[in-house]
This record gives sequence, structure tokens and C-alpha cells, in this order.
Amino acid sequence: KVNSKTTSGRMAEGVLAGERRALARAITLIESTRRDHRSEADVLLEQILPHSGKSIRIGISGVPGVGKSTFIEAFGMHLIKAGHRVAVLAIDPSSQRTGGSILGDKTRMELLSRQQSAFIRPSPAGKTLGGVARRTREAMLLCEAAGFDVILVETVGVGQSETAVSEMVDMFLLLLLPGGGDELQGIKKGIMELADMVVVNKADGDLIPAANRAAAEYHAALGLMRPSSPNWKPAVKKCSALQEEGIAEIWEAIGRFREKLWESGEIPQKRAQQAKAWMWNEIRETLVIAFREDPQVAAALHQMESGVIEGQLAPASAANRLLNLFLKPS
Ligand code: GDP
Repeated sequence: KVNSKTTSGRMAEGVLAGERRALARAITLIESTRRDHRSEADVLLEQILPHSGKSIRIGISGVPGVGKSTFIEAFGMHLIKAGHRVAVLAIDPSSQRTGGSILGDKTRMELLSRQQSAFIRPSPAGKTLGGVARRTREAMLLCEAAGFDVILVETVGVGQSETAVSEMVDMFLLLLLPGGGDELQGIKKGIMELADMVVVNKADGDLIPAANRAAAEYHAALGLMRPSSPNWKPAVKKCSALQEEGIAEIWEAIGRFREKLWESGEIPQKRAQQAKAWMWNEIRETLVIAFREDPQVAAALHQMESGVIEGQLAPASAANRLLNLFLKPS
């Protein structure tokens, strides 16, 4: 089905052969905002789609400083030693290619980044979370087609990006710090509810008693929440990413999660729902871009916005006028 005479066909062949350079170039292509690149990207994605989906997709979140990169390094190395191929992607809407991205930092995960069986890609730059998320989703499919069987999607843990990540993965893992009840107050309940597994990191040295207390508290807190799956009760684990302790147990628990939710059909069902929601996101994003690019809309937009800001125009009527310009060009 892959036509090797076309650019995207050759790229698809490279990706399917597991070539990392082809994979990196393919991701650059899907991240491009150029229109001709986009149509090439669509052809490429169509070709690789039948070869995607054979991984476990894990979202990893937690506040800056909790130890995400240390954890991913230790966890990734553990998986590679067990024969897996690990791709690490990121969602960071604050990142810009030129500016100080939290997740794009090249010095992070130094050991992992040197492994043949690892592929690390920083967050795509983008103006909107939706825009960043859609590119990460596509990168995930490309990594799967290239034979990566564990996909880790990291996020900064400071905003709505957790929700975006949870909407593209099979399992959502929340890293937390050792600490008392005050800690628990600081974590948004909504984010706790997304977690399929809570991991108290830095359970080492003097922090061990605090980590034990935190684990007990999170366990109790999760017990009060309604689990999102009928087949899985969110687990609480402790680890020391720095000392590489507790990592194997976490992977074993992920294995149990995966087994149960595949058997019950929940993962395929979840992925199907995610794909449908993704399609609608694409429609929304694309429509808004086309709307803004419409010459008549563009000409009237500023005036309408000012009218709404100054209270002279009702928002709905301004929206309707603009939509009419877009839908019925005269
Ligand atoms: P991120 O911002 O979530 O990616 O966090 P980092 O991985 O950069 O870690 C933040 C700091 O916590 C660093 O100084 C790490 O060395 C330290 N750290 C990470 N994991 C552990 C751990 O398991 N135990 C201890 N004691 N420190 C850790």
C-alpha cells in the first residue's frame, strides 16, 4: 500500500523500518504548519495508521520538581533492559522553540537519550493547547508504527495539559511529592481523579516517613473517589527515581492494568472514543483557522471584537454576523 515513489511513501517506509532519522523527519513534517506539508503529513499518517496502536500509552504528570525527568530516565532504562522500545513525547503548551521550554531541555534524561531503543522528542511549539496536543497524538502514532511499544507522554502539571494528555493515553500516572495533608490540598481534585496510578516519588533517605504518610493519605483520598474504570482501582505506589527503587513494581502494576483493561475491552473502547473526540477537535481547530483566514471575516473581526468589548454589541449577535460572512460569502 505504501508507494515508495512519493516523498511521504519513502518516509513511511523509513518509519515502518524503525529508522529513527525517518521518524524524526516524519514528526517534523507533521509539526509543520505549511499547507503543502500538511497534505503530505495526512498521506503519511494514512499509510502508517494500520501499523499503529500496538503500544501501551502512558501519560505522566506532576508539578515541576517532583522528579518527572529523573523518573522517566530510570523507568525508561528499566524498560529498555527488559527489551522494550520506549518513546518519550511531551505536551507543554508554554514551550516555544526559541524560548525556555520546561520539557524541551536537551540535558534532561541524558542516559536514556543515548539509547538506541529510546526516542525522545520535546513538546511541539504551538499557540494553543489543542494545537500542541494534536501534533503529539500524531507523533505517538508514528512512534508506534516505528516499533516503539511503550509511549510515555509527559506533561508539566501546571494547567489543563493533564486533561489533554489523559485524553490520548491508556493510563494516566500522577507523580507526587512526599508530604502531609497540606500537599493533598494543593493538588487539584480534578487531576487526582484522572489518575490510574499515583506514585509518591523521592521515597528515600529522610523522606521515607513522609512518603509513607503521603502514600497512606493518597490511598484514603482515592478511596473516596469514584474510580473511572469498573475494572481498576487507582493504585498508590512509592518509588525513588534517584535510587531506582520501586520502579519494577510500578511496571508490574502497569502490566496488571493493561491486562485487565484489554481483557474487559476497555482500552479498545477508550481508544475508539478518543479517536472520535480527536476527529471533532480537528474539525473545530480547522474551522476556526479557516474562519479567521476568511478575508471578509478578517476585515470585520476587529470592529466586531471592539463592539463586544465596549458593550455595544451582544456577543451572540457579533458571532452571528461574522459567521454569516463566513458561511455566505457574497
Ligand atoms: P521534574 O521537574 O519533575 O522533571 O523534576 P526533575 O527530575 O528535574 O527532579 C527535580 C529534583 O528532584 C532534582 O534535583 C532531582 O535530582 C530530584 N529528585 C528526582 N527524583 C528524586 C528521588 O527519587 N529522590 C530524591 N531525593 N530526589 C529526587
